[in-house]
Amino acid sequence: MARTGALPNRIRIELGDITRLTVDAIVNAANASLLGGGGVDGAIHRAAGPELLAECRGVGGCPPGEARLTRGYRLPAGHVIHTVGPIWRGGDAGEPDILARCYRSCLAIAREQGFQTIAVPAIATGVYGFPRDRAARIAVAEVAAYLAQNEIPAIVIFVCFDEANRDAYNAALGRGN
Ligand code: ADP
Repeated sequence: MARTGALPNRIRIELGDITRLTVDAIVNAANASLLGGGGVDGAIHRAAGPELLAECRGVGGCPPGEARLTRGYRLPAGHVIHTVGPIWRGGDAGEPDILARCYRSCLAIAREQGFQTIAVPAIATGVYGFPRDRAARIAVAEVAAYLAQNEIPAIVIFVCFDEANRDAYNAALGRGN
């Protein structure tokens, strides 16, 4: 807690739809093809419009743990950072490490690009089945460690689609509900 406690204003939790946020970049929990899917990926492609899929076709996919940058097109966000989480197979197949790398990869792109504010969904906790509380602890640990070492991004918003996820992030940050 000491580490995150030093960064209280740079880590925010918001309940809602990530496609509505006006930030420098939103993170997409994509699949390895980057050619669209359900969940947050589907919502982002619907809101961004067909130009996003066209750009993604040219990217050529993304391995789990890595991230790729595109423009945001019709989204209020300027860019989309697409990352591919681990499919949960019980936890002994490297899933926690892959999820941690997703966060580091996204943060590295934000830093390279000079993005001040990014919004991040609960990567891998939907269709990919990563347990929500453990995922929130990994997300908070990776983001807090990165922000402690880097001035950019200035602000990371954890966007929770439901109250259960928001509770998980609050608990991981040691904040009351
Ligand atoms: P994955 O395949 O990585 O598990 P999902 O899209 O199935 O990705 O789920 C990841 C998380 O995104 C889940 O917690 C889900 O509730 C959440 N989610 C779904 N739609 C949205 C949205 N529009 N904004 C923010 N979060 C969303």
